[in-house]
This record gives sequence, structure tokens and C-alpha cells, in this order.
Amino acid sequence: MSAIENTISRAGFRLRFLGRTKATAIGGRGVTFKDAPAPVPQPERNLSLGPSAPLKTEILTAPGGALGDIEDALRRNVAVLSDGTFYIHSAVISDPQARSLTDRARRLGINLKEPEPVELSVIRELYGTAATKRIDNAEGIKARFVAMIEEAVAFRTSDIQVKLNEEQGSAEVRFQIDGFLSGVVEEFHHDELEALITTAFYYGDNGDATPNPSKNQKVTVNKRHKLPPGVFSLRLHFAKLASGRHLNIRVIYEKLAVSGQGLSALGLPREIERTLLYVQTLGKGLLTIGAPTEHGKSTTLTVWLGDLLDSRGGKLTVASVDDPPEGLDPRIIYFPVSDGGGDEVDSFTEALKASLRIAPHVVRVGECREGPPARMAFDAANTGKLVSTTIHCAGVLNIPSRYEELGVPTLLAYSAERHACWYSQRLVPKLCPGCRRLLSEAAKKDARLDVLRERFEGALGQAAGDLYARGPGCDNCLKRSAKIGIAGIKGRQLIGETLIPDQRICDLLRNRQHEDARRTWLVDTGGRSMALVGYPYLLRGDIGVQEWVSYVASAEDLKCDLALAAQTGPRP
Ligand SMILES: [Zn+2]
Repeated sequence: MSAIENTISRAGFRLRFLGRTKATAIGGRGVTFKDAPAPVPQPERNLSLGPSAPLKTEILTAPGGALGDIEDALRRNVAVLSDGTFYIHSAVISDPQARSLTDRARRLGINLKEPEPVELSVIRELYGTAATKRIDNAEGIKARFVAMIEEAVAFRTSDIQVKLNEEQGSAEVRFQIDGFLSGVVEEFHHDELEALITTAFYYGDNGDATPNPSKNQKVTVNKRHKLPPGVFSLRLHFAKLASGRHLNIRVIYEKLAVSGQGLSALGLPREIERTLLYVQTLGKGLLTIGAPTEHGKSTTLTVWLGDLLDSRGGKLTVASVDDPPEGLDPRIIYFPVSDGGGDEVDSFTEALKASLRIAPHVVRVGECREGPPARMAFDAANTGKLVSTTIHCAGVLNIPSRYEELGVPTLLAYSAERHACWYSQRLVPKLCPGCRRLLSEAAKKDARLDVLRERFEGALGQAAGDLYARGPGCDNCLKRSAKIGIAGIKGRQLIGETLIPDQRICDLLRNRQHEDARRTWLVDTGGRSMALVGYPYLLRGDIGVQEWVSYVASAEDLKCDLALAAQTGPRP
């Protein structure tokens, strides 16, 4: 607790310190930008300045400026110049707080002109470009940083990627939306980059105390007033690269991007939903959701737990040992894993131990990336608790070997008794129906698509020609913004596979007899692999051939699974 306060006060001190130094250096009357390009104030207006600062226009609303303390949230939307020009962001032109600056100025003997509505970029430019070029103004960068986050949130961005480009001498900002990276949405010049990194770092209110370019670092922003509406927290990761640095900002939203109530809101294929409902009735065992990152496994787990609580009228103690997830459920008791201590394994173990002391019925354990939490998840699952966790892997048959790699003893990792269910899922980008193209046609003009056509024809025969490929983009998929929309893609389809393991399958996997394990699963138990579950979506053209190969399976693997499924006789 005191560590957090320390961080905050250090950050606060640092920002205030920067502000004061700058103000002092320029004579205590706010920011000047005599030498900087001044896009908005016209030269003739500059002549109306007082004798103390001939030919200079000052921004009276800048940090340390003549109008006194101004909240950042307000400053983002206004700029008052020493010649009386008063800019207000057009969206808030009637905002009383913004307009009250006229009174404040009058009390100081400055008469302001009628407020002029302008685009946010005009105000940003005033504080940003002018201030940073001239005096390295952290507040200007901060305004752009905050505006960038707001824009990202408006597009439901999951990650903001800030990448330093050494050759261009600039930093490029891209948004990751629905698993796709957008074009460049903002650029920072090389000389602005340090200020950006410092601003981003001290914007955090928890995590590493001081920026250190030679280390990978993490800070989080949890304070309400620093976050756009609907956002629960921001997690900033600063990565050290061979040359320069990379900043990733993960946006954690208050609500999940699913509409509707309960497990059905996920729109899972029916048999998968029914298996997950069955697991809710179990009193012990381990539910593992295995998937690559960015495939929504944490969302599924959150929805599943919420659905479980709904079904019991909330009369269930559910503990979660994790960073609070997106779509925080207030009925769940959260045991946070502390950040930045450098000893995350110990912090994880401590939090898990504490959670077990409240005698929970169900425990959610954050992604098992380390041995001790994985081992503890296994132990908890054996003491009459239903434990749910996520693990990074490709499919259900890889789950036990992942636990083994993490240091869970082989006997436990392949013990069917310990496992309640293995589940894996993918969020596959869906084709825009407005511009998708028939594979047989599109392949005639595109060598890459022709390669795919050939492979799918080998697997599926002539039917491959009726599959679809991504289109060039149309009003339906690009209307939001040509920069941010993804040509030919519209939404995502969730597909998955479940397996309630028995000892036979566990033993086959333990002996590395993967093909036999797959045959047993798909033929003997009538299981449905991800490829089988997704196949109807491929045939309907909801999923295109390119996305199928990238996200689901190869054409050859699909052929194998279809052949196995065909061997399934009528089940007794
Ligand atoms: Zn389209």
C-alpha cells in the first residue's frame, strides 16, 4: 500500500517538478513559443502583447501559465492565448467549466474574446508541437497521450502499440482491433519520444517506480479519473528492443464485448456450450482453457464463472487469483497478484494461498505461466474445489504436456482424475459478406490464393472452389475509418473444442502417441475437434481460406479430421 502511494507521490512530484522548472526558465508567465511554428495564432495578433513580451504569444492555460492551475481534463479542451484568443474544442463549446475561464481571466485583468470552436487537433498542436519542440513540454505530450487513448477506446482497441522506428526517427502508433493491427494512427517525432515514454510511465499509478530504458517494465493505470469511461484499467508494458523501445498499452474494459446474458452470449457451438454447462455441475477438478494469446480465453472464463454464479443465485464463493480481468464481476473475490516486485511467482503463490483460506467453492487462477501456480492449481483441484485456469497452448490434446513442461509432475499432469475438462478456442476473423470473393475466381489473379485453392482442392476435392477468400474492402467493412477498419473483415467467430479426458487418452498422450489419442477422441468418443466445429463456417463462407489456415488448421489436418469423423458409427 505504501509502495503504491510512494509511486504516486514520486510520479506527482516528478511532473510538478518538470512543470515548475519549465515555467521558471521562461520567466514564470507560461509557455512561449517564439521560435516554434505557430499554426493557429496569426502574426498580427502577436502585436497586441504587452511590453514585457514583445512579439511573443503565450498560452495562458499552459502548465505554470498566467491563468493558474488548470486540470488536465479541462486543458485538453481549451487554449487561451495572451492576445485574448480563446479556443474551445467544438464538442464542448458550451461546457460551463471551459467558458468560466473568461471570468477567471477577467479577474486577472485579461479580457478574452468570444470562445472560438476548434478541432481537438488545433489545441493539441498548440500544446503539443509548439511546447514540445520549444521546451520539451511533458503536458503537451500528455494531452496527446490521453487523446490517443480516448480514440483507441472509441474503436474498442485491445492494445495500443507504440513502436520506435529508428530509420524514420519516429514512433508509430497502431491500434490492435479484433486481432488485427491498424495502419499508423499517430506519429511522434523522435525528439518527442522520450517525453512520451516518460509521460506514459508516470501516467501509471502502480508498478515500477522509475523508468529504466535498459529494463522491461510494467505499470498499470487504475485511477478512475485518468481513464476514459468504460475502461477499467490500462496495463503498460515497456519492452527493451535491440534498438530503442516498444510500448504496449493493453486496454482492460469494464464490460466484456459480448452482448446478452450467460454463457449463450458467447455464441459458442451448441455441443461446446453444453459441455461447459456440465462442468459447472462438477464439485472438483481442473477446467483448463488452452489457447494462444488474443483468443479471448480470459473472456470465456469470466463469462463461464458469471454464468455459474447466476445458476446458483450467487450462493457460491468464487475466488480469483489474477490481475482483475476485463468485465470484472463484483460477486467474485479478487486476490491480486502484485506487479513489479520482480518476484511474481512468490506473489502468485501468496495470493493463491490466501484465496484458499476463505474456503472458496470455485477458484479462478490466472494464466499458468510458471511452475508453482500450475502445481498449486493441481493441488487445489484435488481438495474438493473446482479450479479454472487458462494456459497458453494450441489445442486440447496439448494441455497435459504443457502442464508437464511447467513442472507439474508427469503422474499428476496425465491423471484424468485431476482434470474436469480441457477446452480450447479461437476467435477467427469473419469475412465481410459485402466484398468476399469466390476462391475459384480470386485464385485466377492471385498466386497465393491459387496455392491455397490447390491445397484445399487436395483436401476437399472440387468443393474447394466454392470456398471464399477475403475481399478488397467495401463500405460494409471499412465505413468506420479507412485507417482503422480491416479490408474484407467484419467481426469474429468463436470456435472451440472440448474434451473430458479419460485415463485412456491421458495414457496415450503420456506415451506421445498423439495420433492414437486423436483417433480415440474423434472416433471412439465422437469428439469434435476445432476443425470439425469450424468446418460449417468455412463452407458457408463465414470464414475464408486465408483465415482458416492462419487460425484453425491446415487443409491437410482438416482432411484427416473429416476422415476420422466419418468413421464414427452410430453411437449406442
Ligand atoms: Zn467488405
